[in-house]
Amino acid sequence: MQETHSTNFPKAVRITEVGLRDGLQMESAFVPTATKIRLLNALIDAGVRHFEASSFVSPRAVPQMRDAAEVLAGITRRADVTLGVLAPNRRGIERALEAQADEIVVFLSASESHNQKNLNRSVAESLQDMRDAASLVRGTGVKLKGAIAVAFGCPFEGNVPLAQIEAIATQFAELGFDAITLGDTTGMATPALVRSTVQRLRARLPQMPLALHFHNTRGIGLVNVMEGLALGITDYESSLAGIGGCPFAPGASGNICTEDTVNLMNELGIATGIDLARLTAVALDLEQVLGRTLPGQVMRAGPRLRVHSLASQAAAVG
Ligand code: ZN
Repeated sequence: MQETHSTNFPKAVRITEVGLRDGLQMESAFVPTATKIRLLNALIDAGVRHFEASSFVSPRAVPQMRDAAEVLAGITRRADVTLGVLAPNRRGIERALEAQADEIVVFLSASESHNQKNLNRSVAESLQDMRDAASLVRGTGVKLKGAIAVAFGCPFEGNVPLAQIEAIATQFAELGFDAITLGDTTGMATPALVRSTVQRLRARLPQMPLALHFHNTRGIGLVNVMEGLALGITDYESSLAGIGGCPFAPGASGNICTEDTVNLMNELGIATGIDLARLTAVALDLEQVLGRTLPGQVMRAGPRLRVHSLASQAAAVG
C-alpha cells in the first residue's frame, strides 16, 4: 500500500464506464450486439460497477445504438452493477424503462446554440421535457441522472455563464433528480473552470451528487480529474481505451480513458474496485474490434512498475 497523495482526496471513487455509449456512438461501422455484450461482461468481471451502456436514441439518428434493448438484455445482471443508459426523449425513456435500465441519463446543453444543434430545442423547452422525464421515472425505482452538456464551454458560444449552469442544476434538483453530471462534451474544461463550477453548484445545491465527465480533447482531461479530486468529487465518467471524440475537433482525443484514470487512482492510493490488468485486456480487445490504434496510454505502456527484461531493450537517451 502506498501513501495517499493528499489527505484531502477521497479514499475511493466511482468510475462510470461510458465508452460503449459515448465512444461507440461516434463509430460508423456497426459493432455487433454480441461483441458489445462481451465487452460489457468483461468490464464487469474486471470490477467495473457503473455503466452508461447504451443509448435509447432514434435508431435512424444513431444506428450504432439501435440494439440498446438487446445489449441490456444480454448483460449478466448483478445487484451491485448499475446499468445506466442515455435517453434523449419520452420515447427513449419508455424504452429504457421497458429494458429495465437501472439508471436513465437525460441531458440538455448549457448553451442555447448547442442545445438547438443537438436537440433542436431551446433550453427552456428541454427543461420542460425534463419535467416529463421526471414524472415518467418517478416511482419506478430507476435512478434519474441529469447531464448538462457543454458545461465547461460551448464550441459556438465560448464560456457558458455559471448562472446558466446553476439555473439548470437547480431545476434538476427541484425535479428530484438523483445526480447531476457536468459534461465537458467538447473538451473545453480547465482546472479553474472545474473549481469555479463545482464550488458554485456546491454552494447552491450542497446535497446534490455531482459527477464529472471530461474529454481529453486538449490533453488536460486527467488534470481536470485531479482538480475534481481536490474538490472531493467522487464520481467520474470515462471511456474504455479513451474512445469517443468531439464532432467539432475532428481527430481529437475522446473521453478520458478508463484505464488511464484507474492507473492514476492506483498511483494516488484511491480505491476504484477495478483490476487494471483485466481492464487493460478489455481495452486491447476493443482495439481489435475497432481495428485501429486507440488513444489509451496505459494500455500501451503498462502500469508504471511493469519491469522489462534488460537484455530485450534498446537503450534510449533523452
Ligand atoms: Zn462525452
